Amino acid sequence: MSGKEERLRVLVVEDESALAEVVRAGLADEGFAVDVQHTGVDGLWAATENPYDVVVLDIMLPGLNGYEVCRQMRSRGVWTPVLMLTAKEGEYDQADAFDLGADDYLIKPFSFVVLVARLRALVRRGAPARPVVLTAGDLAVDPARRQVTRAGQLVRVTRGSSRCWSS
Ligand code: CA
Repeated sequence: MSGKEERLRVLVVEDESALAEVVRAGLADEGFAVDVQHTGVDGLWAATENPYDVVVLDIMLPGLNGYEVCRQMRSRGVWTPVLMLTAKEGEYDQADAFDLGADDYLIKPFSFVVLVARLRALVRRGAPARPVVLTAGDLAVDPARRQVTRAGQLVRVTRGSSRCWSS
């Protein structure tokens, strides 16, 4: 690979050291520049202080969990794409992750190939400045929070693309 090619910067926040190391080494092999943090507090700090292209965020972290890290990133105006890692299907309401500003998620154990593909897709999609809320009549669509409200009431919507992994 050409050393002049700009490397994508990824932050991995994962408290399981062995998994974090496997992901770090694998992503480095794929040409990513990888930083690893092992706690939510450190992950939040790193994500806020550094211009990453994408963040891999475990949900179950000591202290500050991944949901809270994501929520606080967004509330601080950090819109770096976030891919959340969940321990197992059904343990969490995946809709919660999207409500809190995550862009994608994977269920452990995950395929590394899939992880890389998802990260590249997120980077391609990019991290625009926080999108504006679109309104039409009493309907409001908040792309950043992935929320739709009608007359101030939250409307549950299914994010079709998020279901591709389950087939
Ligand atoms: Ca964990």
